[in-house]
Amino acid sequence: MKIAIIGFGAAAIGFIEQMKTHDIEIHVFEKSKDIYSSSISGIRADGKLFVSKEMGGELDVDVHLQKQLVDFWISKTTNKGVETGKSFSDPQYYKAFYSKGFLPIHSDFYHLGTDQLKEVLYNIFEEYTAAKNIHFHFNYEVKTLKIQSNTVIINQEFEFEKVVVSVGRSGHKLIKQIISTNPELVVDDTKVDLGIRFELPNHIVEDLNREMYEFKVKFKSRTGYMVRTFCNNPSGYVVTENYGDFKTVNGHSKLKEKSKNTNFAILTTVQLTEPFNDPIGYGSHIAKLTNLLAGNKVILQTYSHFVDSKRTKNLYRVQPTLNPGNYILGDINLAYPRRVIESIIDFIENLNEVVPGISNADNLVYAPEIKFYSNTLNNEYFSHLKFIGDCSGYTRSIIYATAHGHLMAQEILKQ
Ligand SMILES: Cc1cc2nc3c(=O)[nH]c(=O)nc-3n(C[C@H](O)[C@H](O)[C@H](O)COP(=O)(O)OP(=O)(O)OC[C@H]3O[C@@H](n4cnc5c(N)ncnc54)[C@H](O)[C@@H]3O)c2cc1C
Repeated sequence: MKIAIIGFGAAAIGFIEQMKTHDIEIHVFEKSKDIYSSSISGIRADGKLFVSKEMGGELDVDVHLQKQLVDFWISKTTNKGVETGKSFSDPQYYKAFYSKGFLPIHSDFYHLGTDQLKEVLYNIFEEYTAAKNIHFHFNYEVKTLKIQSNTVIINQEFEFEKVVVSVGRSGHKLIKQIISTNPELVVDDTKVDLGIRFELPNHIVEDLNREMYEFKVKFKSRTGYMVRTFCNNPSGYVVTENYGDFKTVNGHSKLKEKSKNTNFAILTTVQLTEPFNDPIGYGSHIAKLTNLLAGNKVILQTYSHFVDSKRTKNLYRVQPTLNPGNYILGDINLAYPRRVIESIIDFIENLNEVVPGISNADNLVYAPEIKFYSNTLNNEYFSHLKFIGDCSGYTRSIIYATAHGHLMAQEILKQ
């Protein structure tokens, strides 16, 4: 049998790992120029691997399988160096957050770091290129899929009996093309996470960072929206992420180079109802509006100005780790919906009750920080075309995406 995989990211790797020893010809189509390209795969930044039933996606993935996949990723590093931690294993921390209305999320994590991740990807790629049944087609963007009764045609050029789409969130154009001709595929398309990236000196959160490195909590704010922390980076750096027609903020940390600040995202989940059906459009418009105000950059504001809706003109004690060429001091309130801003402020004020210093006036707020959910797709709809990883809407992390690939390969092998 010949199988095509579109996209070479975490889900594709989970899939290939299961398939590679079988008598199956695997063709990988990847739009990036080569394996060294900075645009390849979502697994290029930070590399925190989580074992948790409570986050990472909507799939039911057994924790033993999750740990097995973590071990797989670690086994591909050159010197097996990882930072590890457990969130909320200490009941004192659990109780402190719980008593102030937070829902603490349990997880074990393993941090590879941005620097090591690159090596991991090269090492896996080297191994796959040595296999006779795995063929890479780089610099090959799949723009159209023609779905016939027994085969799928890629870009009117290659015909396959089975195609697995694993294009992550950056492959949204292809997914849109497929959905436009098969709208019945979509099961859910209503959610987007809007928020900010928060940056403060390490010493305010050092106990938390030492105890669990990544603290994940959810909170039902007084607006009714759920707010959560995401991607905590002790001694980390704030960076911008370029989506082509807009820029957002993100954060990461490295194993070797350390800053004096910690950053994490505070995200509000906005879920709308009919006739709304374009969460990506909604999130993109807010991101573009924020960029528009900042001369095509992101906005940085102090926390007190964020609360008072005043433009920030000067910073005080906390100096940003984001490169000065990437931001403008401004007012995020001019771009963000009031309900989202109120939810974030409510979250921070309550968090300050547990971690004093969180709501200091000169802590830093960056926007736009937006996390898109892909449309959730029905994988039962076609027997010869499947969707795995983040593009399917079922996963949002490296381990869940890898697991989805792993499970899908097992299902196909069973057939
Ligand atoms: C900045 C950043 C940091 C992150 N940090 C973490 C983290 O620390 N821990 C964690 O668990 N998760 C993290 N994530 C999320 C994680 O990267 C994703 O959940 C995971 O990579 C999803 O895997 P995937 O295989 O579905 O997609 P991806 O890994 O994104 O791979 C998709 C691949 O498809 C290719 N592609 C896209 N469209 C096409 C096309 N039309 N034709 C051909 N190829 C195409 C892309 O170039 C890419 O190589 C992060 C994401 C980002 C953006």
